[in-house]
Amino acid sequence: MNCYLCKSFIPEDQPFYNDYDLHVCKPCFVEARRCFVCRFPGRALQEVEGLGLECEFCRGNILADGDDPGELVRPIAPFLEKFGLRPAEEPDFERIGRRELRDLQSDADLPPEEFMDDFLRYCYPVYYKGRRFFLLPRMTKPTFLVHALIQLAAANIAMRFDLEHLAGTSPFQAFTRGWCHWIGYEAARLLKYDLERRQLRKWPELGAQGNFDHWKAMARFNEPAKMIAYFNANVASLARKHLGSAEAAPDP
Ligand SMILES: [Zn+2]
Ligand SMILES: [Zn+2]
Repeated sequence: MNCYLCKSFIPEDQPFYNDYDLHVCKPCFVEARRCFVCRFPGRALQEVEGLGLECEFCRGNILADGDDPGELVRPIAPFLEKFGLRPAEEPDFERIGRRELRDLQSDADLPPEEFMDDFLRYCYPVYYKGRRFFLLPRMTKPTFLVHALIQLAAANIAMRFDLEHLAGTSPFQAFTRGWCHWIGYEAARLLKYDLERRQLRKWPELGAQGNFDHWKAMARFNEPAKMIAYFNANVASLARKHLGSAEAAPDP
């Protein structure tokens, strides 16, 4: 095989980097600048102001500044109805900076991000709060779609219980956030977005995915219909028990 960047032959016993079915030799890799979104040391990296470098593979696959997130998500939003959730009709998406989006979700002292997955490791790239959906500018469309579904689900549940968002650590929040995260994980499976599915399996590390592991384990032995029934049977009583009385909503 030959190096994508310098074209020279890479001997079998030499280390290399590979992605997109391409190989990059170690000397090139060490020298190369890399794409912020996917880390690939592209041939035609372009600097995107305020964000970093973007490679030739990510470029066509990115939710760009001119793209309407609402339009992109519309065809897949009905997926949530399968889970008894009603997606917001005209979700209000707002692009904000990485730092701001991070601060909305966590006050932990997080390391600065060198690449997109450094961000995803701790925070969601789309986040619902106070009837708006905040998002990172320029993530890939698959990343946007699965995360938009998670947050549309969270928004629907938050609104039902008259909450600003689902942040928090009570059993109610762990239960509902885990459910939303699992729905996104299931969507990634059906859409064959393997990278996003792998990321959702382990991230974010700060616990925003609630008791996702519990839902994931349940899915191994239960059909979605059973899981939906379980969610509906428990969500209202958890709300009554763990939310203040003003927020305790009636049964669905
Ligand atoms: Zn090379
Ligand atoms: Zn890239």
